[in-house]
Amino acid sequence: MIIINNKKRLIIIIFLILIALILFSITKIYERKLSNKEIQTINNYEPFKKAKNFKQENSERYIRYYEKNKNLDYEEIVTHVNIGLDYGFYNYITNSDISKNNLILVNKFLKLNKNYVPKNLEEINSKYFINGNKNVRLLKKEAKEAFEKLSNDSIKNNTPVYGQSAYRGYEKQEILYNKAKNEYGQSIADSDTAREGHSEHQTGLSIDVSSNKQGNMLTFDRTSSFYWMQNNAHKYGFILRYPKGKEHITGYTYESWHYRYVGKKIAKDMYNNYSNLTFDEYYYKFIEKKGYKS
Ligand SMILES: [Zn+2]
Repeated sequence: MIIINNKKRLIIIIFLILIALILFSITKIYERKLSNKEIQTINNYEPFKKAKNFKQENSERYIRYYEKNKNLDYEEIVTHVNIGLDYGFYNYITNSDISKNNLILVNKFLKLNKNYVPKNLEEINSKYFINGNKNVRLLKKEAKEAFEKLSNDSIKNNTPVYGQSAYRGYEKQEILYNKAKNEYGQSIADSDTAREGHSEHQTGLSIDVSSNKQGNMLTFDRTSSFYWMQNNAHKYGFILRYPKGKEHITGYTYESWHYRYVGKKIAKDMYNNYSNLTFDEYYYKFIEKKGYKS
């Protein structure tokens, strides 16, 4: 009996050892599989690391966006994802970094508070503005001075550029957007009009222009004034903010009349070296990083 019991015990022990071995092997295999997967992920985002504006926390998003946009190069993928384009417009909204001053970015991902009003708004001389409209003639001091010079030179050159609409506060934008939404529906309203807090006009750095005193901004690109702006706006620190063919990045239909003050240094750099980039892209490539000063 004792012998049998011992045999039984031995069998049970061997059986238990076998089970332990099997469990141990399964765990090991599983661990190896996991680390292979991890290594694969790291290898997948390795090429994105070469982009200067690579962010470790976005690496999964780069890979996913790349899967859907294989026509783009790695640097474009990084920039697009950093902008937030993989989420879609108005789907992931944070606050604009107002410490960037004249290089502040406001778009469909970055917004300004209801209470944000630029500190040094000044009135553009009526000589350089379409008739009437006193309440929309404001720009930040440095943008206002630059625009007055620009307008003055354009008039002298016989290719006049007048302001048509400049600073707009949060509440005013809210009224404008809601009106557009009621009239045309949300989708059309969104491609032409910014939602409240998302309008660049709230920065006091943007201006819509016209080639005559009556105001013709919608047909501005059919005038010689537009041609003059294409070749000269950067000399005064202005850039065309919503260019043709870049709607998928800016979220707005082409606006030949909407100019943004970024200062001469950046406007010239964009004109000379990065004319294919929107301000959104340029910002995430060169300006976003902390400590950047204009
Ligand atoms: Zn505008």
